[in-house]
Amino acid sequence: MNFSYAKEASENVKADALVIPAFESDNPLKDYACGPAVSKLFLKGDFTGKSGQIMVLPAQGAVKADRVILLGLGKVEKACGKVIADALADVYRHGSIDAQKIKTLAIATEVAGEPEGVKARDLGRAIADAAIFGSYRFLNHHTKDKHVKRVWVEKTLIAGVPAKHLAELKTGQERGAIVATYTCHARDLVNEPSNFMKPRHLAKFAKDMAAKIPGLKCRVLEKPELEKLKMGSFLGVNAGSADPARLIILEWNGGKKGDKPLAYVGKGLCFDTGGYNIKPNSLGMKGDMGGGAATICALGAIAALKLPINAVGVVPATENEISGTAYHPGDILHSMSGQTIEVDNTDAEGRLILCDALTYTQRNYKPRVVVDMATLTGAAVVAVGSKFVAMMGNDAETIEHFEHAFNRVGENVWELPLPDCYDKLLDSPVADMKNIGGNPGTITAGLFLRRFVDEGQKWVHLDIAGSALYDGDNWGLWNAKSPTGSPVRALVEYAEHCFANPGHKLDSEHGHKHGDGHLHKH
Ligand SMILES: [Zn+2]
Repeated sequence: MNFSYAKEASENVKADALVIPAFESDNPLKDYACGPAVSKLFLKGDFTGKSGQIMVLPAQGAVKADRVILLGLGKVEKACGKVIADALADVYRHGSIDAQKIKTLAIATEVAGEPEGVKARDLGRAIADAAIFGSYRFLNHHTKDKHVKRVWVEKTLIAGVPAKHLAELKTGQERGAIVATYTCHARDLVNEPSNFMKPRHLAKFAKDMAAKIPGLKCRVLEKPELEKLKMGSFLGVNAGSADPARLIILEWNGGKKGDKPLAYVGKGLCFDTGGYNIKPNSLGMKGDMGGGAATICALGAIAALKLPINAVGVVPATENEISGTAYHPGDILHSMSGQTIEVDNTDAEGRLILCDALTYTQRNYKPRVVVDMATLTGAAVVAVGSKFVAMMGNDAETIEHFEHAFNRVGENVWELPLPDCYDKLLDSPVADMKNIGGNPGTITAGLFLRRFVDEGQKWVHLDIAGSALYDGDNWGLWNAKSPTGSPVRALVEYAEHCFANPGHKLDSEHGHKHGDGHLHKH
């Protein structure tokens, strides 16, 4: 997506279409100089500014653009970046874009008119998010059908920005575009089928990405090195796969030398058959590397934004296959930490690869905060559905910071407890623990991982089984039945605003309720 800024007022901008966003009222276009002229294009009362309303009209000279797209934003009291981004994303995927061959879309920003809750920077980010996510499509394997031939918006022309807000809005848009672009890389990785996204392909993506970003380093440990490190749990899962495991490591040193890093650890399970506890239907399990994809792409965005922190991303990548060499139910794996694990279920493999990655990360990097993320449990989808991330952890302040980060980017998160009373469900008669503790499945998975977190180590666990593999209808920024790249945006937000400023006040920069989460603590 190409973004540019018009010098003219919105009504004088030449484009295939001019989007005029407006809040709900008796006279929704009152903030626009062209309001009276545009109002003549529709029957009185047809456009109310109600949330979700989109009207595409021939401009008939009312403005210089060929068409006018009226966009309802709902009540002004609810205005915030997320509301605008969600509404605008619907314009980018609207059928009229294709039907009317709209390639250049201008957006009138007078609506900003500074309603409470919409800062210029938020508005810039909202436009970037809407344009990039609203136009997202995965066409790597289409060769000739209607998807390829569809017309998509190529250029977004931002119009009507008052001079005093231009710099802030532009900053928001440019930084938002970077984060959105890396989030879409994560979506591509998840979308790629497993025959194109084996551990070696995921590693190659990380290496190629790092090669393009100055200062971002990528190392890939291959199977003999993983054996030397005694990653018996990770390698146990890999045993049945013809494709050897990889440990992908990204390092960004934007902070002071010696500052403890932020560590992201993501499950890179490139295909999950379930192993000998075979899944009845493993369709969709190409997406079981969503946590790894998010980790890699968050590191890409953090480095591209040159955030002044040290950060590391670690992704254990493997498939979980069935073969003569695969691990069996009842096997006992010796993890890198020294703890032994009885495999009660070969389909609870995510935690088996994450535990060794957590040990590796803590031993080698001594992170200030370590965050793991994984499409870990079907139980998380039962608990919070596909519109929320399930979050657990051992440090109240870090949990609160993550709630804040998710809210800032307009994504939903819900904290689940990690009570000691369920920990003994993991006890095994033949090893230090077993890999499955029964219900509550999301929590016992979190408790399993907690056994691999060092004393005093601040740790957050994000179960993204629902949110990364979004399965519903078009919703806000997300297309129907499409991976979301969640939680890349929240990871970057946390890195930039919380990790980089440990003492900062959460309330000072966000005083607004929105969306579905309603998790604001203030
Ligand atoms: Zn599994």
